[in-house]
Amino acid sequence: MLLGSLAVPLLPASDHAKPAAHPPPAKPAPKPEPKPEPKPAAKPSALGEHKEAPKPPPPKPAPKAPIRHATRAQRPKPTPKPEPAEPHDKPIPEYPVPGNILPDLVAGNRRFASGHPTHPRQNAARIAQTAATAEHPRACILTCTDSRIAPELIFDQGIGDLHTLRLAGHIASPDAIASLELTLEETNTPVCVVLGHTGCAAVTSIVEDRRLSSNAATMLKPVANAVARTRRYNPSLKGHALSDECVRVNVWQSVEDLLRGSEMIATRVRTGILKITGAVYHTDTGVVEWLGSYPGQLSILR
Ligand SMILES: [Zn+2]
Repeated sequence: MLLGSLAVPLLPASDHAKPAAHPPPAKPAPKPEPKPEPKPAAKPSALGEHKEAPKPPPPKPAPKAPIRHATRAQRPKPTPKPEPAEPHDKPIPEYPVPGNILPDLVAGNRRFASGHPTHPRQNAARIAQTAATAEHPRACILTCTDSRIAPELIFDQGIGDLHTLRLAGHIASPDAIASLELTLEETNTPVCVVLGHTGCAAVTSIVEDRRLSSNAATMLKPVANAVARTRRYNPSLKGHALSDECVRVNVWQSVEDLLRGSEMIATRVRTGILKITGAVYHTDTGVVEWLGSYPGQLSILR
C-alpha cells in the first residue's frame, strides 16, 4: 500500500536506476532481481535527516514561505485600529457645515451598531487641538440620563464633536433650554438631536403609574403629558407597544417644548440656522431610529 503511494513521486528515479543495473546481467531471468525499489528508500532516509517526512523533500523552501504569509496575515488583523491613522488633526472649521453633520451621525451610528466603530478624533492630537480653540460642537444632543446611551459612542464621534444635555426623559426644562441657548449663542451649532430611547424608565414610570418623589413627579410632567397624549390618540395600545409609542411622542414633546419655550431657538429653526431632529435609540440593537423633523413644527413657528 505504501509502495503504491510512494511510487508516484519516486518512479522516475527508480526507472533511471533500472537501466544502470541491466547492462551487466543482460539476462531475462534477473528481471525479478532488478527490484532496486529499495534504492528509493535510501533517498527518503537522506531526507529523513531533517526529520521523518518522506514525501516533503523538495518543499524545503516551503517552510519559509508559510512563515512570511503568517506574519502578513497577523499584521492586517491589528490594523483595524485606524485611530492613529484618522486624519482628524485637520483644522477645526470656524463653524460646522450643517449639510454634513446628520449624514455623518447616521453613518457613525451604522458603524457603531455593526460593531465597526472607528473612534475618530479621540487621540492626544485632538485633545490638544480642541484645547487650543473654543468649543465647536457639530451637534447638540438632548437625551436621557440612561447609562446605556453614550452619544459619542453610539454616533461614533470624537472629543469636541457633540454638546450633550442630559436629563431624565430628555425633558426640555427651563434649565435645559437655557443651557441650549447658551451653546447656540456661543457656537452656532446647526443641528440638535432630541434623542429618546427604548425602555426609558422615565417614560415607563409614568405609563405604569409608579410612585415618584415629588421632585421627580414635578420634573417629569412633560413626560406625563406625552403619555396622556399617546393614550388619547392610541387607546388600544398596551404594554410594550404603548411604552414604545410613548417614547416617540415624548421626543416630540421635548421638541415642542424647545420651540415653545425659547424664541431664540424657534427663530433659528424658522430661519433655517438650526435643524432639530427627533430620534430613538434602540437599546437592544444599538441602532438609532431617525424620526426627522417634528410634524407639528410649522404650526408652532407661524
Ligand atoms: Zn430614559
